[in-house]
Order: sequence, then C-alpha cells, then structure tokens
Amino acid sequence: MKENYFLDNNFEENDRRDIAFQLVNALREVVSISKKMNQPISYEQTLDLLSDFSPETYEAIVPLMQRKNESDWVKYFKEKADALSTDENIVSPITIINEELAELKKITKTRSDKRFLNKRVRDYENALDYFSPRKISEHKILNRDFYLAERTDFKIVETLYEDEEHKDYRLDNNNILRLRLIHPDRPEHIIGADLIYEHLNTKHKNVRFLHMQYKTWNNKILNFKAGNLEDQINKLDNILCKTGYCNDYGGKRIGRFYRLPYCCAFLRPTSKMQNSDSKMVSTGMHIPICEAKKIMETEKSLTKENIKGKNISYKIFDELFNSNMIGSRVLTFDEHQKFYEDNDLLDNRNIIRIHAQEIML
Ligand SMILES: [Zn+2]
Repeated sequence: MKENYFLDNNFEENDRRDIAFQLVNALREVVSISKKMNQPISYEQTLDLLSDFSPETYEAIVPLMQRKNESDWVKYFKEKADALSTDENIVSPITIINEELAELKKITKTRSDKRFLNKRVRDYENALDYFSPRKISEHKILNRDFYLAERTDFKIVETLYEDEEHKDYRLDNNNILRLRLIHPDRPEHIIGADLIYEHLNTKHKNVRFLHMQYKTWNNKILNFKAGNLEDQINKLDNILCKTGYCNDYGGKRIGRFYRLPYCCAFLRPTSKMQNSDSKMVSTGMHIPICEAKKIMETEKSLTKENIKGKNISYKIFDELFNSNMIGSRVLTFDEHQKFYEDNDLLDNRNIIRIHAQEIML
C-alpha cells in the first residue's frame, strides 16, 4: 500500500488541496472527452465517479475539499461537541445541532419577520450538511465494465503499468474507457497532477494521444519559475515537440482531412478551489506546450494577455480531439510502445497521474 499523499500532514494542506482539485479537474476532463458531451460534468458527479474509480482517493480528498468550507458555526459546533464529550460518551456535533435547531425552529415557525433568527436557522442547517456524510448519487455518469477484464484474446498494447490496477467503464458507443490512477511510490516531491488520454483503435492497431499538465494559478498569472513549471515545459517540449511528435509525417501529408498542428501536450492552468460553495470553477484553457515555450523565451510569466490567441478553450477542445483535428499523429502499437520506452514521460516520481485509454473495439 502506497502512502496517501492527500492524507499526509507533513505536507501543506493548501498544496494538497490544490493538487486534489487538479486531479478532480483531470477526471472531469476525461469524462467530457470520452462521453463527447460538449459540456463538463459537475463537480458532484466527478466526485461520485471518483468514489467508484478510487475509493481510497475519494475518502482522502473529500474532507480536504470540505474543510475549505468550514464556517464559524462549524467550528463552534465542533468545539462544543468536543467540550461535552467524555471518554465514555462521545457527543456528535450532529446531535447538538439538531437540538439547537429544533429549539430555534419552534420559535421561528410562523415568524418570517424574525430575520436574524431565520438566518441562524440556515446557518445551522448548513453546518448540519457539513457534518453529514456526503451522499453518492445512484445515477452513475459511467458504468463499470467487467467483461473486458476477462477477455484473453484481447491484449491492450503495452505493459506500461504492469503492477498498477485499472478499472474499465463502458461508454455509450460501446467503446471502453480504461482508467488508471498512478501515484508516485513516495509522495515527497509531488508537484501536481497530469493526464494522458489515448485513443486506441484495436482494428487498425494504432494510437493517438494527448498529454495535459495541470497547474494551479490565480486566474491571471503563472510564473515560469514557480513550482518547476519551467522544467516541466522544457521536458514536455523535448519529449513531444522537439522529437517530432508535434510534426506531421516527415513533411508528408497523410489523410484527406484538414487539421491543426500536431502538438499533443497542453498546459492546463487551473484555478484554486473556491471558498464559498462547491461549484467547480476552473479555467478552460489548453495552451499547447510549444506555444508556452515560445512565451517563456521572452517573458517571465504566462498571463491572460500573452496567451490570447494561443490557447484552445474547453468549449471546442474535446470536439477537436475527437474529430482528429488536434492531438498526436497516429502511431502504430509498436511505435507507441517504443515511444514510452524511449522517454521518461512515464516517470511519475513527482506527479499524480490519470492515464485514460479509450479503447475502440
Ligand atoms: Zn508541440
């Protein structure tokens, strides 16, 4: 059992929360690409999926995210429950809130004119929500598929993560979404989350892929010196852009269709989790790594201004990838395998990764 970074108090709670939020964003992005929905799923639906995909991660992340929303009333009831508890008798904050709430409701029942009392009722109800366990919806955004796992005639290219567990989900078009969550062995130097998304075509035995690097920012500016960003951009540029995965087939145009440049690595600035409610607000920008690299040559930071015209918004990103207009060129299974072997792209010592493979049967 690997150590769980999200539960590890040796690391700053804010850092853990940022990376948890990146991970949730990455998972959300996987669903919107694979389900071809043209709009992102909600934060709540994403957490429901996480509870199925990786229950341990779900258990670790949810309290981390909820603690952000701790109101003064939550703190008050925590302290009160604590003060009333003895070794023999643990008092739950839920019991106390219910008692106080019942009393308040008795006197406010018919009194809509008592503005402050009624506000207090709402505050207590919110605190009650906070202490109540999160309910997982019965309606699932993706359904597990247990069939593929048993098929022996079917080998999915690589032995990339031999020891890692995967889960398979059945998509509406009967394709399979194979998901892996890859944790570093030791959580010492975790700097963020990333996503590899692949289209695997089993008939033609080929693969296309995308790589997304998530980075928390303040919605305005992202310094290249902060948190290894410069190194990460250089690494992805070297592995993917400079070696030609960003190019077409050696100058030869293959395929009849129009498409955008082949760049297949994108930087994903992601906002911090918001305080007040659980709505997931996040910037939907996808900046091609080669464009980020160009900006890095003359500027200190990425800003809202200098990425204008150089990024793809979430509104069209999924559609462009799904219709082969962006993402890597098509690789044979052998090329694909060799690509991973030759590069340390799969080196994830400091990254928490979702590796998603959409398998077209
Ligand atoms: Zn590129």
